[in-house]
Amino acid sequence: NRETRLLRDSDWHIAVTDVLFLGPALPNPDEIVNGVTGLIGNTPLMRINSLSDALGVEILGKAEFLNPGGSVKDRVALRMIEDAERMGFLRPHTGSRIFEGTVGSTGISIATIARARGYETTIIMPDDVAEEKVKALLSLGAEVQRVRPASIVDKKQNKSNFDAHFSGTGPEIWKQANGQVDAFVSGAGTGGTVAGCGQYLKSVKEDIIVAISDPEGSGLYNKVKFGVLFDRKEAEGTKRRHQVDTVVEGIGINRLTHNMELGLPVVDDAFRITDAEAVAMSRFLVKNDGLFLGSSSACNVMACVKLVKKMGWEGSGKCAVTILCDSGTRHYSKFWSEEYLKNAGIPVDLSLVEDLLRKT
Ligand code: PMP
Repeated sequence: NRETRLLRDSDWHIAVTDVLFLGPALPNPDEIVNGVTGLIGNTPLMRINSLSDALGVEILGKAEFLNPGGSVKDRVALRMIEDAERMGFLRPHTGSRIFEGTVGSTGISIATIARARGYETTIIMPDDVAEEKVKALLSLGAEVQRVRPASIVDKKQNKSNFDAHFSGTGPEIWKQANGQVDAFVSGAGTGGTVAGCGQYLKSVKEDIIVAISDPEGSGLYNKVKFGVLFDRKEAEGTKRRHQVDTVVEGIGINRLTHNMELGLPVVDDAFRITDAEAVAMSRFLVKNDGLFLGSSSACNVMACVKLVKKMGWEGSGKCAVTILCDSGTRHYSKFWSEEYLKNAGIPVDLSLVEDLLRKT
């Protein structure tokens, strides 16, 4: 069947029938959850009213910032730790230490879950990520080692990452939207979200459009559009992204991860989002919806609007779903700092969004 075919394109062999129907039930608000990990996943799917009303298209955001560790990465961290326990690599309350290289969110998620399960953590992270992420890690009792970004190691190849989205986030979206999903949009850092959700959603509805929101300096847009990760001329003209001094954190990359390779067969389109556009969308959503988002979420929402406009879906009542990865509270010192933006030469100009909507 289709899902088996899609997954066979990669060299990861997954027992699809095992995972397809394992999506967790949506939460029963009357039930007591079991500890902090019981709060992970089953996040609400939220209608973004300002954009949905203006476009005549349902723009829905999966509110991943409501996870206890504050981001979508809680799902991945939980899955990685549970898989490691199942394989016997980790045993709770035996002094085991988890090492992880990350730009921040995954580290915070791991440190959160580690505390709940009796592990120590060492997080290795680039020295330029927003300071509030370091503070959160230290507060959670993690040891933090900061390195120049080029030497970072990461979970980009970890299959638990894909599985968390294929059997969790994807099925949740499908169920919550009652199968009325016409497009799914996501940025890609490790690629786990777009690969896992994209593969799942295409397996249940073949003609869903899966699109990547790609920030400035990332090569994924070119990979999707032209088959090459980046073209040299462009790379020379623009800053290439190695998670160095980028205002949009967590998405955008210039190499193909294993998770991304799994996702590419189901990715139909990509949208390049400038830093100024991401900033504009974040301010627009606070002003009109009271929605205070981090940088990758703002990119994702901007890409949804661009997709709707490109497809000519205005007024159609169709539905585009995206991921609201984390909240603005993780981004005070960069993306939400007027001073940082000014120094980086990034304008705060809401007309970049308002003009798009006005032309609807
Ligand atoms: N948003 C944020 C804030 C992240 O930290 C990440 C992960 N680096 C992503 C989005 C991208 O998700 P993925 O790794 O699944 O591609």
